[in-house]
Amino acid sequence: MPFSALAAQLAALDAQGLIRQRRVLESPQSAHVVVNGRDVVAFCSNDYLGIAGDPRLTAAACEGAGRYGVGAGASHLILGHGAAHHALEDALARFVRLPRVLLFSTGYMANIGIVTALTGHNDALFADKLNHASLNDAALLSRADFKRYAHGDLRALGRLLAASRARRKLVISDAVFSMDGDVAPVPELLRLCEQYDAWLLLDDAHGFGVLGASGSGVLQHFGVASARIVYMATLGKAAGVFGAFAAGQPEVIETLVQRARSYIYTTATPPMLAHALLASLNIIAAEDYRREHLARLITGLKRGLAGLRWRLLPSDTAIQPLVIGSSDEAMRVSAALAARGVLVPPIRPPTVAQGTARLRISLSAAHTPEDVAQLVEALQGIEDGFACRD
Ligand code: PMP
Repeated sequence: MPFSALAAQLAALDAQGLIRQRRVLESPQSAHVVVNGRDVVAFCSNDYLGIAGDPRLTAAACEGAGRYGVGAGASHLILGHGAAHHALEDALARFVRLPRVLLFSTGYMANIGIVTALTGHNDALFADKLNHASLNDAALLSRADFKRYAHGDLRALGRLLAASRARRKLVISDAVFSMDGDVAPVPELLRLCEQYDAWLLLDDAHGFGVLGASGSGVLQHFGVASARIVYMATLGKAAGVFGAFAAGQPEVIETLVQRARSYIYTTATPPMLAHALLASLNIIAAEDYRREHLARLITGLKRGLAGLRWRLLPSDTAIQPLVIGSSDEAMRVSAALAARGVLVPPIRPPTVAQGTARLRISLSAAHTPEDVAQLVEALQGIEDGFACRD
């Protein structure tokens, strides 16, 4: 058997209960979806504003396809960079109030491209331990000295920066931590970067569209601006479509155009998606009520789950993780919810630390208060079952 070693590894994962299964989604992404032929209410998506299935985006995508065709046909530096990509970069730069923007096909590719283009083996990276996997992979690929500090530990970061003799220092942080939902202390990170002459890369995948009065993200949320910041956000979450972008000073962005390998050596995103994203930006900016509704749902969920044996992590964002503890129990609670028609994904090690397996509840403006009440009641019912077994 040529692949018997792989089969053994898979069997070992299975024995640890760590094999993952894909569900088949048969409807547009929304609060109510059809999965494996069943109607369920889902708390699994990053479609925080509830617009991924919005007919206006579908119409814009069709219009874009009519105007530009479907495939980009080439990479950006050859002949794939279309009018829609160009217009979207300009619109995004105005929206996040930074001088220049560069589109990437995905957030994973953006992080790989940004970190490897800006740093190399004489440089140093300082990263929060709970950063997204794409930032960690980027750090390894960059060949820079890679230091990680405990989650949110500004003193530790200060010590690492003070001790560094690197030519170039880049602090890297998720703006909203994807498995915990907390917001990074951006003003304090920026102060440290100023003190030690470092740059700051913020990954706002989960803040763009949601944080800030008009949804432009974590910089607006804190009211901070600095030429040291390299801002990155994704467009497949609150923006409801696909893709990502980097934003910052013109020299930074031009460096990415010239050097980011995950930008240069790949086909441009279908222009119809860039066209749809122009419509999405208008919705994000104009429809404040989506953010307001989401904020009310978050408050309602926290109130509803306050007395449970399992605790929500302290988060004010749409990501509300309910810590269960063991992987096995998290799987059982998730399965019991699924049996009641409620989908919440269990998140287990190695994605999160041992003993902190959790249900990652993500709320969307597409949910109603009744959907949240259904989740709360289901969890209360399941908890009673666990209490009996204790
Ligand atoms: N950064 C963070 C913090 C993320 O959560 C994600 C996606 N889960 C990404 C980057 C990658 O973005 P994309 O899905 O567009 O590749």
